[in-house]
Amino acid sequence: MTIPAVQVLETRLRSQRALRKNQFYSNKLALMTDNRRPLFKIKGLCRCGHRPSKGRKLCSRCRYQHLAQKQRRQKILEGKSLCIICGKNKPTKNKKYCETCAVQSKLRHQEWRRKLYDEVLAHYGNKCVCCGESNKAFLTLDHINNDGAAHRRQLKTKGGYRFYRLMKTQGYPPILQVMCYNCNNAKRIYGICPHQQSSNPLQHPPA
Ligand SMILES: [Zn+2]
Ligand SMILES: [Zn+2]
Ligand SMILES: [Zn+2]
Ligand SMILES: [Zn+2]
Repeated sequence: MTIPAVQVLETRLRSQRALRKNQFYSNKLALMTDNRRPLFKIKGLCRCGHRPSKGRKLCSRCRYQHLAQKQRRQKILEGKSLCIICGKNKPTKNKKYCETCAVQSKLRHQEWRRKLYDEVLAHYGNKCVCCGESNKAFLTLDHINNDGAAHRRQLKTKGGYRFYRLMKTQGYPPILQVMCYNCNNAKRIYGICPHQQSSNPLQHPPA
């Protein structure tokens, strides 16, 4: 008796799918039990031992796996109408997370942003190139050729932390420098900071 071709194909497909599923879970187990992970961390590698994507901790494959896992968990918690972060409290009305988690994640984001700003400003020299101001609260990034608006348009970003993050991932392009807000503003309006003009201070911005 011969087995119909369709049936053969189906069994083959089923076994392939099972194999893939098995591979996925054995990969996950291997990741969890891999005792080389601390070493990978020191070497700046992904948790699987591969080279991570530029400016990230994980390789693209692990990142995808991590995100998929996170989304699955969030979907389950959402279905149970629980906070998608802690999975314990009831979420605030019209929100997906609870009050405590909202406050905590905001603080974490602020902390992360501060670190990012510090890192980027440190790379560009950490003090105003015009007046030498070094208090971080006064410092910002300045486009040397005054083409910040066009640059941001090209990057499709409004500025802020997203701009700083992009500069970091792009390897700190040399078209920027650190300036204090005063010098930066004066340079933007007058084309040159009054600090750089020894006499005859500027009176009005050019029309
Ligand atoms: Zn990886
Ligand atoms: Zn929560
Ligand atoms: Zn300055
Ligand atoms: Zn100045």
